Amino acid sequence: MKMVIHISSAMQDPVIARVILGTGVEINVDRANIDATSGEIVLEVPIDACNRVARAFEREGASVSVLEHPILRDEDECVHCGACISVCPVYVFSFADDWRVAMDESKCIHCGACITACPHAALKIVSE
Ligand code: SF4
Ligand code: SF4
Repeated sequence: MKMVIHISSAMQDPVIARVILGTGVEINVDRANIDATSGEIVLEVPIDACNRVARAFEREGASVSVLEHPILRDEDECVHCGACISVCPVYVFSFADDWRVAMDESKCIHCGACITACPHAALKIVSE
């Protein structure tokens, strides 16, 4: 399950390492965007450990969003052109046997590349 945590510059400690050690859960960092004032980190967390990991990050002062649907597609707008297939770095999109574009949203790392590539504005990142 994808989880997004937001941290502030006030948090100088190795928060992710502490949560991993404290919970014993194997967490994969999919993407991290951290600057001098704040950070957004996308994590892959085993589904049965999501609540435990989320509470552990909250105790560390991070805000946490568990993403059941990291990205949404407006089926009325999608024309199955395939533009999203070529830009997605983690292969969320693929052509199905009927040449429609299929999605495996569970792989999404919230990079936003497909949002700007879609000519019909059919895709939307979900943050909550
Ligand atoms: S780029 Fe947009 S319109 Fe084209 S297949 Fe992807 S979601 Fe559909
Ligand atoms: S935001 Fe779009 S391009 Fe980026 S990982 Fe998710 S589906 Fe792929």
